[in-house]
Amino acid sequence: MKYLLLFLLALLIIWQWRTHRGNKSTHTASKRRNALPIDMVPCLDCGVHLALQDAVQGKEGLYCSAAHRQRHEH
Ligand SMILES: [Zn+2]
Repeated sequence: MKYLLLFLLALLIIWQWRTHRGNKSTHTASKRRNALPIDMVPCLDCGVHLALQDAVQGKEGLYCSAAHRQRHEH
């Protein structure tokens, strides 16, 4: 029971803290998320654009998948 109360108290503190600094920081955070630059690169084989982090690196460039890399380079 004691732990439950401590747990609830901790939750309350976290909740208070979050709502307190909430409005301003969530606003800027969402703004930043929207403005976050994701590098889009075209697949050399089919031309589809995908995020750089999802691209497959090939000898000549980037591809959307290993299958397309293989198709293009062989
Ligand atoms: Zn492709």
